[in-house]
Amino acid sequence: MRIFVFGMSVLIALMIIGSPASAWWNDTHGALAEKVCRDFNCSCIEDIAEWSNIPDALFKDMINHHDYDTNKDCPESRYWRCPSENDFKASRKVQEFLDSAEQKEGCSAWKDIAIASHYFFDTKVFWHNVQDEDYFECHKGFEQQVNEHFVNKDTDWTVCTCGICVSYDEFEPWVLEFEEKIGFLDKVYETPLIVENEKNNTFIGNIIESFKDIIYRILRVIS
Ligand SMILES: [Zn+2]
Repeated sequence: MRIFVFGMSVLIALMIIGSPASAWWNDTHGALAEKVCRDFNCSCIEDIAEWSNIPDALFKDMINHHDYDTNKDCPESRYWRCPSENDFKASRKVQEFLDSAEQKEGCSAWKDIAIASHYFFDTKVFWHNVQDEDYFECHKGFEQQVNEHFVNKDTDWTVCTCGICVSYDEFEPWVLEFEEKIGFLDKVYETPLIVENEKNNTFIGNIIESFKDIIYRILRVIS
């Protein structure tokens, strides 16, 4: 019985602590798309973050998540290779999905806009502008750290990997640049990129509190 109770509490702990551990970049794309949705007063705020990750989660067309621009500043490094030819695959995807959105209404239009936003924000990331980069040393660490800041709702940070840095302040202008491209809809608000979500915080806080209480009671029973 003791082992069973202990096993159950470990299981519950794992379920609560380790929920979506697989995703390490999708909160960033989600936060960016959510700002676009809020600014345009779109009615699909619940789904927009998920839609913005469709290219990574569903299409998995990583070949299209890059823009190579030989005119862009590219320092030489042993960690990556600067592109030798122009290739704007991601930008073409942005246009493709914005054109498609223009033909649609409501949330099906916004699904395409969210997908377009994914490709757009990828073009802004240094690691999507160079080739043969050291993925684990540079690219993954960068995305992971940025994502953590978005999850924690931090608004004052700089992340550097392999000598390439990005700051929080760079993200908002990217969103504004993307919003300019949505010429067929009207922007109505200018909302902050990161919004403190108190409701959610208390909700999670409550879960953690009741979880601590359960563990305490179990420990008292089995000891
Ligand atoms: Zn991507």
